[in-house]
Amino acid sequence: MTIKAYGARASNLALEPLAITRRAPGEHDVQIDIAYCGVCHSDLHQVRSEWAGTLYPCVPGHEIVGRVSAVGAHVSGHKVGDLVGVGCIVDSCKHCDECEDGLENYCDHMVGTYNGPTPDAPGHTLGGYSQQIVVHERYVLRVRHPETQLASVAPLLCAGITTYSPLRHWKVGPDHKVGVVGIGGLGHMGIKLANAMGAHVVAFTTSESKREAARALGAHEVVVSRNADEMAAYAGSLDFILNTVAAPHDLDAFLALLKRDGTMTLVGAPATPHPSPEVFNLITKRRSLAGSMIGGIPETQEMLDFCAEHGIVADIEMIRADQINEAYERMLKGDVKYRYVIDCASLAA
Ligand code: NAP
Ligand code: ZN
Repeated sequence: MTIKAYGARASNLALEPLAITRRAPGEHDVQIDIAYCGVCHSDLHQVRSEWAGTLYPCVPGHEIVGRVSAVGAHVSGHKVGDLVGVGCIVDSCKHCDECEDGLENYCDHMVGTYNGPTPDAPGHTLGGYSQQIVVHERYVLRVRHPETQLASVAPLLCAGITTYSPLRHWKVGPDHKVGVVGIGGLGHMGIKLANAMGAHVVAFTTSESKREAARALGAHEVVVSRNADEMAAYAGSLDFILNTVAAPHDLDAFLALLKRDGTMTLVGAPATPHPSPEVFNLITKRRSLAGSMIGGIPETQEMLDFCAEHGIVADIEMIRADQINEAYERMLKGDVKYRYVIDCASLAA
């Protein structure tokens, strides 16, 4: 089937309307009419080939929510009319240790929702800035939030799981003082989730304008990280730091804020490396520097259910598909509170 989408034909070109095709649903496939798709900074990195290797045309989008419009003969978990989501993963090998453990995000053959290998035309996957998508049932999530919140649920499919997974893995809870660095799409979800897990949350932002807003998201304290005196007051005080910043920066300034045995986990994925941290900042307090990538399918469902139970959604600014190029420029300036979401009905116009 031919549908409308928004994407780029080359790394140096703006996104534009495109016609793309989707396969007919196979036996285990779910066909989804996309209602909304969140705009992740990874979309911008990839559509501009900042991580190298982007295939064109590139249709980004891996924060997809919508309604099931058809299912294959062997699909048991989803039916026509269900509200569902698709995140960053649409396929994996299904039998390696990682897949068996429900950590498809670490499978060597994970297929991303866009820019991944597929036998479907044009030979690589095309994402959620589009009217419809067809996905193997294993990678389709149930949405239990009320339908009225659907647009604000979309960012949970990447920003939500990418922050939930490390907070769970490093066992963040009521006894923890947790730093969240960078208050964008990921960071604002990190604040909400760490707060809901019972942690004491300290938000770190470069934007003075987000000082009050970060408190409204659930931060107990807010530090403007450009202010050295404010930073110094937190030296050696945090158990865990979730660093979401999308650009290279001085990691030592944050490592110095960890207690003995504390960990800073990087989820931000800048196009060029951070300066290497000072080893004495690690060894003198047995600190760890770690990384984490999205999350597996079972944990993504757990996160969605946790958010539905706690009434957590993203704070969004809704845009039409034809506003996406402007939205990217504003995202680069940190000018979004806190996630753009495309109303995919606008693609029909
Ligand atoms: P975003 O909405 O643009 O937020 C990034 C935030 O980082 C900004 O709002 C800003 O917050 C802070 N920042 C400070 N200095 C910056 C600079 N020079 N350039 C850009 N940002 C700066 O991005 P996002 O969607 O949350 O994604 C954040 C990063 O995580 C991206 O690199 C993305 O590719 C990556 N990511 C990784 C995974 C994973 O699996 N690990 C998943 C999704 C996304 P303040 O204004 O508060 O300083
Ligand atoms: Zn993402």
